[in-house]
Amino acid sequence: MSILIDALLRENLINREQLNDARDKQMGAKKPIQELLVEMGFVKEEDLIRISSKVFDTPTLNLYEENIDPSVIKLISYETAKRYGVFPLRQEGDALILAMSDPQDIMALDDIRLLTNMEIKPVLSARSEISKYMEKYYQLDDALYDLLKNIVDDAKVEMAKEGKLGIEMLKGERSPVVRLANLILSDAVKARASDVHFEPQENFVEIRYRIDGDLKKIMKVPSNLHAPLVVRIKNLARMDIIETRKPQDGRTSILVNDRKIDLRISTIPTFYGEKVVARLLDAKEAKIELDKIGFPEDELNIFIEAINRPEGMILVTGPTGSGKTSTLYAALNFIKSETTNIITIEDPIEYLIGGLNQIQINPFKNVTFTRGLRNILRQDPDVILVGEIRDKETAEIAFRSSLTGHLVFSTLHTNNSVSSITRLLDIGLEPYLISSTLILIVAQRLVRLICPHCKEEYTPNKKLMDKFRIYIDRFNIEKFYRGKGCEQCGFTGFLGRTAIFETLKITEKLKSLITRKSPEDLIFKEASKSGLRLLAESGMKKVASGRTTLEEVARVAEVVEEEGIPERPGEARENPKILVADDEEENLKILEIRLSNAGYEVIKARDGREAVEYAFKEKPDLIVMDVMMPNMDGFEATKTLRSKLATAAIPILMLTAKRDKESELKGLDVGADDYLTKPFDKDKLLARIRMLLRRSDRKDG
Ligand SMILES: [Zn+2]
Repeated sequence: MSILIDALLRENLINREQLNDARDKQMGAKKPIQELLVEMGFVKEEDLIRISSKVFDTPTLNLYEENIDPSVIKLISYETAKRYGVFPLRQEGDALILAMSDPQDIMALDDIRLLTNMEIKPVLSARSEISKYMEKYYQLDDALYDLLKNIVDDAKVEMAKEGKLGIEMLKGERSPVVRLANLILSDAVKARASDVHFEPQENFVEIRYRIDGDLKKIMKVPSNLHAPLVVRIKNLARMDIIETRKPQDGRTSILVNDRKIDLRISTIPTFYGEKVVARLLDAKEAKIELDKIGFPEDELNIFIEAINRPEGMILVTGPTGSGKTSTLYAALNFIKSETTNIITIEDPIEYLIGGLNQIQINPFKNVTFTRGLRNILRQDPDVILVGEIRDKETAEIAFRSSLTGHLVFSTLHTNNSVSSITRLLDIGLEPYLISSTLILIVAQRLVRLICPHCKEEYTPNKKLMDKFRIYIDRFNIEKFYRGKGCEQCGFTGFLGRTAIFETLKITEKLKSLITRKSPEDLIFKEASKSGLRLLAESGMKKVASGRTTLEEVARVAEVVEEEGIPERPGEARENPKILVADDEEENLKILEIRLSNAGYEVIKARDGREAVEYAFKEKPDLIVMDVMMPNMDGFEATKTLRSKLATAAIPILMLTAKRDKESELKGLDVGADDYLTKPFDKDKLLARIRMLLRRSDRKDG
């Protein structure tokens, strides 16, 4: 037994039982026993330091009173400092003064001597104090280290363009912040996210992804990483890193596993610092084809006929995020040729498309829709895309151009096709100008597609079915489908999206109604007579073919009230949530009773697959995981959870069979944070859980 432990026992600072308990835990934990004694709350840190100083005859030192020399910090990497629990203070002649919590750690002393080529003079400092200084001076903390250590990092992220930045990126590759930024971006690409939000809060940075149109919380990053992370992202897009008080925009391209992704980055100052949004644009999308966006065949033919006309106005309408841009780009891709001059004016340019002349709106440089349009007209265009009609002035120039030998595309922020006509009249456009130019209005929405990997039959809520009864009867829908939720779809039940359309062809009769400024309901009646199919109908056709759900159509087609749409799980909760995974019913029951008596909310999973599913859906604060389980064992489940950013930070306490050393080591290897051998004592279990929760709390604050 070490002389330190001897001394602790002698001074009655610990007892034998506590020592045995710590030893129990030490197996496989790769931590000095005295550190565990402190972590487990058996001995106070200051007592340990006092005794250590006496036993080892080493001076103690309060880091607060030290002048830290930043150039000395560079002598030891973060990883080494972390591994040995040391912090380099200053140089004295040929010697390095090194703060250590265990000055007897021969291996640490030898290694650092070798690495720095200096003589090492250890001084004794509290482990917690050393950690605090490591966080501050290496701008990192244990939470990030733990997080990165566990994650399976199989993605390759590089700059798409060669040059100065590429080299800088390679140099910084090993820095944990660069790794974290790369991980977030590659994980977002894997998750099919369209946007990544970095949102500074009071005590942490919230990372959220937009997937299939919905924002989803992914992880919390410690606040001290906010600044380096923002600098990293801004650097990628060559933005001004000094300027933090003005909104900025930038763009760049990266390669994620050799797949080219365009990044459009924007920053905006908020109360807690700069908020960054990175939009991920898959270069493949720029080549989007007209027959892939979801048009049924007959409507596709109407659309193609319209876009082949030499002049006139085509409007695509819908709220933000309804897929208007994809439809327009697909249309332009379809008609572009060597002999047509296509010019676009956009805010912002989403995809750069070969063969098009794209102009970005920039109010600071006085490039507005109206001004840009006037310039475009001098450039002899055949086809013009005006990103959006927001005011009368833009509307007028756009419509007049379509009267004089140009085919013009634009978008409007309206709910359906017929109301777009009323909107144009409302903003003061002359009725004759609309009726003589307008060819087609397409209203559209995006619906999520059912994940094919977990598709199942179900019966939707009756009220909802009643609201859609006419379509259910018309299309003879007998079976309804939904996604149950699986790993492939991130347990959302959806994978990808498609558009639903309402295509209104402007007939002669409609033209005369518009010229007479007829009310909306009259126009609507005539449109219906000429065969207009509403968004709901287009959506229900996709329900009939089993591609989307009834709820999804109800959500975007706005035919029903809110009720009937499944509720989203609430965010607010008070008690820590613990997920318990065990296949033995009796064990589950015991764990449930003990944990809920201790004030925890308990979720039960009966095998590894369920554990993974509930971890994604419920975001528990901690997981207690049995090793031997059917379907997927505890190792596999842990590995799966550790490979996704959304679940990588949830602490896992693994339950191993009695004295099964191999399992313990394997468990830690796949990323479990701690283990407990069965059968275990109730208090021991609760103590371990408290410890893990305390540790993960720091990630939030
Ligand atoms: Zn699925």
